[in-house]
Amino acid sequence: MTEFSLQLNEDQLQLQSWVHEFAETVLRPAGEEWDEREETPWPIIQEAAKIGLYGMDFMAQALMGDPTGLTLPVTIEELFWGDAGIGLSIFGSGLAAAGIAGAGTPEQVMEWVPQCYGDADDVKLGAFCVSEPDAGSDVSSLRTRAVYDQASDEWVLNGTKAWITNGGIANIHVVVASVDLELKGRGQASFIIPPNTKGLSQGQKYKKHGIRASHTAEVVLEDVRVPGACLLGGKDKLDARLAKARDHQRTGEKQPAMATFESTRPAVAAMAVGIARAAYEYSRDYAKERQAFGKPIIMNQAIAFMLADMATEIDASRLLVWRAAWLANNGGYTNAEGSMCKLKAGRTATWVTERAIQILGGYGYVREYPVERFHRDAKIMDIFEGTEQIQQLVISRAISGMRIE
Ligand SMILES: Cc1cc2nc3c(=O)[nH]c(=O)nc-3n(C[C@H](O)[C@H](O)[C@H](O)COP(=O)(O)OP(=O)(O)OC[C@H]3O[C@@H](n4cnc5c(N)ncnc54)[C@H](O)[C@@H]3O)c2cc1C
Repeated sequence: MTEFSLQLNEDQLQLQSWVHEFAETVLRPAGEEWDEREETPWPIIQEAAKIGLYGMDFMAQALMGDPTGLTLPVTIEELFWGDAGIGLSIFGSGLAAAGIAGAGTPEQVMEWVPQCYGDADDVKLGAFCVSEPDAGSDVSSLRTRAVYDQASDEWVLNGTKAWITNGGIANIHVVVASVDLELKGRGQASFIIPPNTKGLSQGQKYKKHGIRASHTAEVVLEDVRVPGACLLGGKDKLDARLAKARDHQRTGEKQPAMATFESTRPAVAAMAVGIARAAYEYSRDYAKERQAFGKPIIMNQAIAFMLADMATEIDASRLLVWRAAWLANNGGYTNAEGSMCKLKAGRTATWVTERAIQILGGYGYVREYPVERFHRDAKIMDIFEGTEQIQQLVISRAISGMRIE
């Protein structure tokens, strides 16, 4: 077990300052433009790939070469400090990669994860498709079906996925579908939909409140046929799991979607910390400059104390993120620490960005200044990868040992 330390090591400090520079010089200046365009910022993803920040190698290094678990949250915080919409365009593929890494065999990971990223000359995206129009928080109620066709050794998928980051524009779609509706969450499995597979199409593209540079759309699956090898984990493992579930035995395995979301919660919480820090720093600097009643507004306790609270909430959130990230790499969560960090950091981002608008007054409310965008971007942190209430549900069950509804 690696010792938990708040002191980042030399490699992490270097990485942090390298990513910060990229965020400051590339993401921050481009944030407003891509928010207005509401389009995937392909040139910036390409730039990130060129410098080695977007790709399988980076993710592998950040995840596997780091026993402390802190490298990824540190990187993500800096990127999202730069801009959240563009940050998500760069990190969205990571969710698909995590879905593959969590459920796939080593061979499947090696085959499909690189295809979620492409390379610097031809960048690609990945999408992780769980949510449906009638099943968001309640992932056990997915209606998308996967039926095995023994004659051709193929799986046939039908259904509609909702709210999918990179949905329809991704090279690789990882789809969680039900193979046995009666078993609910225990009857689900994850499938790779390879590039250009017939029957997969993009439905509506959502017009969003925030993170507008990140593409979010429906994914429609109509008689999508994929080879048997596209079932993550393989058929033998699935059959054994289903047999146990039908026998009402506990399999010890998590629902595929839940397992992925749990592992990515500290990463999502780090996004929230990055947005909150951006808003806090911007409003702090503004408060030192802006004069009212003959002095900088920060000279009023009402403003200075707000900033003091903002700084404290951000630090508290980051500490929870680092604890969860460290635990995830060192023995696992014991008390829903992943959910705790996501709950706290999401709320912090929403609250801090709202306070930042308050500090800027009228200037905080207009698009000329970035804090209104930070606030719009922040709200998603209370919603995706498990809403505030779902995190509370997970935490309350963990602390009580009871099945709180
Ligand atoms: C921009 C964006 C990107 C997304 N990206 C992806 C993606 O890449 N892949 C993917 O699969 N999904 C993605 N999602 C979907 C996201 O995870 C869901 O929106 C989220 O899980 C909530 O589901 P829902 O919208 O159906 O809300 P619902 O589940 O309908 O919830 C509505 C409200 O009811 C509350 N609620 C529900 N159940 C309970 C309960 N048991 N107890 C108390 N309160 C409850 C919720 O907290 C919420 O406040 C994305 C969503 C957005 C908006």
